Amino acid sequence: MAISFTPLGSGSKGNSILVSNERHKFLIDCGFSYKGITEKLALVDVKPEEIEAVIITHEHTDHVKCVHTLSKMCNIPIYATQKTLVEIDRSIGPVNGRVVDMRGFNIGGIDVLPFRIPHDAVDPVGYAFADKNSKALYATDLGHMTLEIKALAKDSDLIMIESNYDETMLKNGPYPVFLKRRIASDTGHLSNSSCSKAILEIIESGPKQFILGHLSENNNTITKAREALDNVMKKAGAEEGKDYMACIAVQHTVTATVLSKCY
Ligand SMILES: [Zn+2]
Ligand SMILES: [Zn+2]
Repeated sequence: MAISFTPLGSGSKGNSILVSNERHKFLIDCGFSYKGITEKLALVDVKPEEIEAVIITHEHTDHVKCVHTLSKMCNIPIYATQKTLVEIDRSIGPVNGRVVDMRGFNIGGIDVLPFRIPHDAVDPVGYAFADKNSKALYATDLGHMTLEIKALAKDSDLIMIESNYDETMLKNGPYPVFLKRRIASDTGHLSNSSCSKAILEIIESGPKQFILGHLSENNNTITKAREALDNVMKKAGAEEGKDYMACIAVQHTVTATVLSKCY
């Protein structure tokens, strides 16, 4: 069996992804209440005590909401960069923290490689995972795609990537100007069109499985994200099912498990 991602919920109001292979289970981020996370885990038949670790991308509330409770009540180790752990300690409270090694580390049998992401947090990272059968990548909260992220994505079987906002909806939407600028900046979030263009480049290296995530509830819809991807792919002659597979993770329900290797 290969590494899989099960998005328990993904979007501007909370993010948590179950990462598993046949032997190990851990979470990327925990941006819901403890009750919310345990209910979502129960839907996929997982108990909180089965979670071996939570690895944190950055300290924004939609990624760390129940980090203190998971750490203290379930004694789950929390992996994050040193600066992010300090920020969590300051803003939420102490956790059973482990500083991630930026050169890579191992949880159970899965190799985990953190990488820098351009986002307005103290020390934000994404993660690449590898076991002997497969490779998977998690990259949301990106102001823009970087060469490093593209290279890691090209080397992965499964990629969860941000498709945060539709440019027209953001422009015409209700947010104050400073917030619109923040979201669209180089250290904000990735638009549907930037995400689609990145996917087109990534599939040059072979078929991939994608999960589009972290959709904004106010500045995006599932239909807009899907249309943006379909348009870019159709224009380039790329075929879903042959060159790529894509699904969209949503905010309020658990998305079906996506295996890194299903071709
Ligand atoms: Zn963020
Ligand atoms: Zn976020």
